Amino acid sequence: MGKHKNPIVQAKKSAIHGLGCFAVQFIPEGQRIVEYSGPRLNLEQTLKALEKGNEYIFDLDSHYSVDGSVMSNAGRYLNHSCDPNCESDIIFAKVWIDAMRDIHKGEEVTINYNYELEGFSNRPCQCGSKNCPGFMIANHQLGLKNPQKLLCTMMEMSNEIISQKNKNDLPPNKSTTSLF
Ligand SMILES: [Zn+2]
Repeated sequence: MGKHKNPIVQAKKSAIHGLGCFAVQFIPEGQRIVEYSGPRLNLEQTLKALEKGNEYIFDLDSHYSVDGSVMSNAGRYLNHSCDPNCESDIIFAKVWIDAMRDIHKGEEVTINYNYELEGFSNRPCQCGSKNCPGFMIANHQLGLKNPQKLLCTMMEMSNEIISQKNKNDLPPNKSTTSLF
């Protein structure tokens, strides 16, 4: 990342996951940090990329996304946090990453990936935030301001998964005639 035109962040080993994006200098609240850039994909291309396991797809709206997997994207190392210090701002189909609060030199720069609830169990989170539910989930999905509600929702979700699984695991109906 240091090679790119944006010197205020650099990629370094992260405690959250792989490489992360770290502040090289103090970044004041509201500062635009980096563009999350890459080719624009239409819906069909987006679905194909997701099927292939591309984890760098950033939705612009319900029709288009940005494929941030390209090496030229300085924002590709941004890790998810359930208590992020940055947020994305989409302006004219470009994704910008802005500081939500003051970020100190050396601090990891994070965003919320805003994943929907569906399939959350496949997306464990190790961000270490106090409000981390253990999975990457969009704030608006669970209302992280209300941990109790969040916990209830998580329980409901896992019960749902277990009951679905049990339904599928049931042996075929044996109550038909038995001669013994
Ligand atoms: Zn987390």
